[in-house]
Amino acid sequence: MLSDYVRNALAALRRERLVRTPPVVESVRGPYVTIEGRELLGFASNDYLGIGRDPRLAEAALRAARAFAGTTRWHAALEEAVAEFKGTEAALTFSSGYAANVGLIHSIADRDTLIVSDELNHASLIDACRLSRARVRVYPHRDAAAAARLLAAEDAPHKIVLTDTVFSMDGDRAPLEELGRLGADLVVDDVHGLGVFGPEGRGTLGVPVQTGNFSKAAGGVGGFVAGPADLVELVRSRARTFLFTTAPPPAACAAALEALRLIRSADEARRRLRENMRRLGSETPIRTVILGSNEAALGAAGRLRELGFFVPAIRPPTVPPGTARLRVTVTALHEPEHVEALVDALKKV
Ligand SMILES: *Cc1c(COP(=O)(O)O)cnc(C)c1O
Repeated sequence: MLSDYVRNALAALRRERLVRTPPVVESVRGPYVTIEGRELLGFASNDYLGIGRDPRLAEAALRAARAFAGTTRWHAALEEAVAEFKGTEAALTFSSGYAANVGLIHSIADRDTLIVSDELNHASLIDACRLSRARVRVYPHRDAAAAARLLAAEDAPHKIVLTDTVFSMDGDRAPLEELGRLGADLVVDDVHGLGVFGPEGRGTLGVPVQTGNFSKAAGGVGGFVAGPADLVELVRSRARTFLFTTAPPPAACAAALEALRLIRSADEARRRLRENMRRLGSETPIRTVILGSNEAALGAAGRLRELGFFVPAIRPPTVPPGTARLRVTVTALHEPEHVEALVDALKKV
């Protein structure tokens, strides 16, 4: 019986402390979030530059929503802007970054393809590999020499090295130069690079095939694949997450277009972000504190909340079993003393 199945599955999740009850954020003010009527200093946002709060995004979305008459010109305009932003020949928009990753990989890989993949890649890349039916070999985190050995160990007409540029649940960066020299096609998920790194916040440049999204530093929603024109044409004609799901709404595309424009001129916000990363002691806006058990991570997050900080506890399946952690993100909206107060509180708990 389905009801028994559900009851048993939920009971197992409860025993493992894996049931999720995401807090309802009632309002936001600068870096503060109000949860259950209490204002907390938030360290959970991926809106690294604070661009999601810019009224110009909402205005662009509203204009597109009002003008909407079933056209796809917003998608075409956004695709052109993404390609220009990333320095690629072409780009394709998706409803999410997840959809972009899944659609890209199964479009460019099949049973004959060997994919060599970092063990801590984002779940959407892992699902993408599975759906592609490619042969997948996993290398230890950031270990380019191990990736080289896996590539050399097997024959395949087509070999891909697949990695996040910034690891979302670890806050470190992939060795892209070394991975690019391995003689296989390097494909990257640059979701957390966009807005933060590179000239004008253009993220990782020079990797010919990449994915990204508009829901982290671009403060909205939607995803993209950027690459050579023929590859994008293939993905447009083949990607199941493009063909069999509705495109992002024009309002989301218009907001994303505006966000790309704002990101390029956000050097001052990037300077503030960079300062906060330094205060946090991290090379990216993300820093994690691994605590091991789900109990320990939830307990630490609860104590931080009592002290006035909102820091999420990250548990499986988002991270491997036994590596539950706190995940801190800083943004350009934090003042120096906010980050210093958090670092003190982290030491306490
Ligand atoms: C958030 C995230 C995604 C998924 O993007 P969505 O637009 O939320 O679907 C993909 N890759 C990484 C590394 C992410 O952090």
